[in-house]
Amino acid sequence: MAPETLFISDLHLSAAKPAPVSRLLRFLNDRAGRAERLYILGDLFDAYIGDDDDSAPNRNVKHALNRLSRAGTAVFFQHGNRDFLVGSGFCRQTGATLLDDYAVIDLYGRPALVTHGDLLCTDDVQYQTARERVRSSEWKRQALAKPLWMRQLYARWYRFKSGWDKGGKTAEIMDANPEAVRSAMERFGIDLLIHGHTHRPAVHDLLVNGRSAKRIVLAEWTDSQGQVLCCRSDGTVETEWLD
Ligand code: MN
Repeated sequence: MAPETLFISDLHLSAAKPAPVSRLLRFLNDRAGRAERLYILGDLFDAYIGDDDDSAPNRNVKHALNRLSRAGTAVFFQHGNRDFLVGSGFCRQTGATLLDDYAVIDLYGRPALVTHGDLLCTDDVQYQTARERVRSSEWKRQALAKPLWMRQLYARWYRFKSGWDKGGKTAEIMDANPEAVRSAMERFGIDLLIHGHTHRPAVHDLLVNGRSAKRIVLAEWTDSQGQVLCCRSDGTVETEWLD
């Protein structure tokens, strides 16, 4: 079998939904071990309030990631909008490497751009403004300085509020903006983009700098299935569905 690189995104793991958690643990303990690299493109957790939170399912997930990376699969992680507080402690505990919000990776000779996807949703001005605020190192420092119980309460409030805010927005506003997509790909000179976040799995053909390009959007993990994108060194790209 040709060497392969796997991508997953938007698992939104939480104690309230056991199915995606056990699916991921099965995946990490078996299927992922046959891959050379695993990229987690953000929103692995539905809420993440700091590396010191070892409540379920974080503890088991970190343990399985650690075992995977120790066994030789390189694990890479990008922040999603739900788990941007993943920090150096997580990386130490799991052996994962934290990537920038935009990262160019080498897919067996073909460069690809990976990102969570929220930065591409430029029509959602309210979200982008809030994002800028909470991603500052000062905001993060202050948030993480609060006791764990207070962060837990805040996370519950945030989840409620996030559902509330989404209710008032059209689907178009929360999708990736085509101009933002093109300009990101042009900026990095890349003709393959892989991202998640929008929960609209698709393969889009587009033109970047006059050349044909592809944008692969990964699916969120639901109670019934989870998507894994597999890119092999022989150039094949395949989607696998785990149940
Ligand atoms: Mn997201």
